[in-house]
Amino acid sequence: MNAPTPESARFPATTPGSQKPPVEPDDLRHRQLREDEFWRRIPAYAHLDRTQFDDHRFQSRNCVTSISKLREVVGELVTEEFCRDAERGLQRATMSLRITPYILSLIDWDEPEDDPLRIQFLPLYSRFQPDHPELTLDSLNEQADSPVPGLTHRYLDRALFLALDTCPVYCRYCTRSYSVGLDTENVEKVHFGVRTERWADVFAYVASRPELEDIVISGGDLYNLKAEHIEHIGSALLAIDHIRRLRFATKGPAVMPQKLFTDDPWVDALTGVAERAREQGKEAFVHTHFNHPREITATTQKALARLADRGIRVRNQAVLQRGVNDRAEIMKLLVRRLGFVNVQPYYVFLHDMVKGVEELRTTLQAAIELEKEVRGVTAGFNMPTFVVDTMGGGGKRHIHSYEYYDRETGIAVYRSPAVRPEQLFPFFDPIHLLSESGQRRWLDPSKRAEMIEAALAQVTHGVGDWNR
Ligand SMILES: *Cc1c(COP(=O)(O)O)cnc(C)c1O
Ligand code: SF4
Repeated sequence: MNAPTPESARFPATTPGSQKPPVEPDDLRHRQLREDEFWRRIPAYAHLDRTQFDDHRFQSRNCVTSISKLREVVGELVTEEFCRDAERGLQRATMSLRITPYILSLIDWDEPEDDPLRIQFLPLYSRFQPDHPELTLDSLNEQADSPVPGLTHRYLDRALFLALDTCPVYCRYCTRSYSVGLDTENVEKVHFGVRTERWADVFAYVASRPELEDIVISGGDLYNLKAEHIEHIGSALLAIDHIRRLRFATKGPAVMPQKLFTDDPWVDALTGVAERAREQGKEAFVHTHFNHPREITATTQKALARLADRGIRVRNQAVLQRGVNDRAEIMKLLVRRLGFVNVQPYYVFLHDMVKGVEELRTTLQAAIELEKEVRGVTAGFNMPTFVVDTMGGGGKRHIHSYEYYDRETGIAVYRSPAVRPEQLFPFFDPIHLLSESGQRRWLDPSKRAEMIEAALAQVTHGVGDWNR
């Protein structure tokens, strides 16, 4: 028997490749949160100190809701040409304009055309791509799955409650453009106002369905509800025995973090609901919506620390958008920065088939590649699941779980056994990102239905070599 190997021989410090090289500063970029007074670059905010700017009342009263207001606020920072482009873009949009001073100040006005924050909120006519021919306004079929107005009951054990139809900002890509925000030149919306009588019908339905355990309270956006409304909804739902989990969905932390440290009644109301849930052995979470690492600043960290202090945990649902977060480097930074500020990345949605924002969508293939790059960059529980919310109400599917995907035509087909087992759900890549021959195949409208039928038939009959 040999003598035991000394420690130094078993782990020789000199073995090539046995040690990780020192970390590059860039690998820790997710911890570097912006803490300067970044808003002072904007002419209209140049005179504001931190206390004035970091106040939710200032933020909501000074949202930019028109191009003339934008001109007034950013002044010389934008060209006349840019404003005209945006004006024409808005005329075509399905969502009205609303940007908080916080987000507006984080846009890089030296290059607004390609800025990932500008892209999400302010349309430019010059960037428009024609809508995909298979696209509808309520692509997720939420209204067809609604037993009472403003409640979508699609999955067995959970439902989506649209409590209101306004938000602190309006996102161009909003999947609920059939309802959310003001009517635009292009869309007259189905409105879900803050009406406690309508809510009572929702609560009665939820109480009548013992299989429901989980309610997503969304809209619109809960940031726009008063404290007493949060309290009202929370206690009504928690009073129902079979309800075990509440999720309060709000984009607020991403676009107006200030509210979480300057609107005490609102935070207290949310805390009260979360505490009551805990006492009953139930849970209440906040689900928020950051899309780009630049949206997360030291202000965000301070705001989220307040929620953490109150024992409220936060998850994130991001929307994959071309030019915003479709590069691996950006998505990795987003995921790690979210983790750093105690937000758990939950989903990344492949962009829904929404009208008027075709240039923001990307291909399923791009999403698959991106997922591959991102997985492994941080702890598994902080790795978002990349999903596609199928058109026609099949619900969310893991992007990788398609039954069929033809990269030439950009047609993918999913099944959803737990939701609508007998149905197939097609998904379509944006046509302008297909190969030239793929694009040509969509040119002739009479051939389109045939092409889709053929794709569905491949799945039904399992014929051919379809995974191209
Ligand atoms: C997303 C969604 C839910 C919640 O689904 P999870 O996968 O549990 O996050 C519930 N109802 C509807 C209609 C939804 O779109
Ligand atoms: S905050 Fe949410 S609901 Fe409101 S416009 Fe944006 S994506 Fe739509």
